[in-house]
Amino acid sequence: MVQKGIDICPKCGGVLKYYDSTRRLVRTKHGRKNYILIQRLRCTKCGSVHRELPNDILPYKHYDSEIIQGVIDGTITSETLGFEDYPCEITMKRWKNH
Ligand SMILES: [Zn+2]
Repeated sequence: MVQKGIDICPKCGGVLKYYDSTRRLVRTKHGRKNYILIQRLRCTKCGSVHRELPNDILPYKHYDSEIIQGVIDGTITSETLGFEDYPCEITMKRWKNH
């Protein structure tokens, strides 16, 4: 995942270009469900696809912070989340070094 407005690949530093967009179901605090639109960006250098993290949508942020905490605690693995949702290793190292 990359923050909205950032167009640099977190894996290799290459330039990200718009790839496609996908609707994603997110859960909010009170068990309600919302669809939000996530744009996907593709790296022109290594070809990896990154989902853009909207920084103006609170429910998604909340969901994401749970993932971050789970990774730090070691309760979330690549098998828990599935390959596409699993944060890249560089990102996780940054979280753990906080
Ligand atoms: Zn790349």
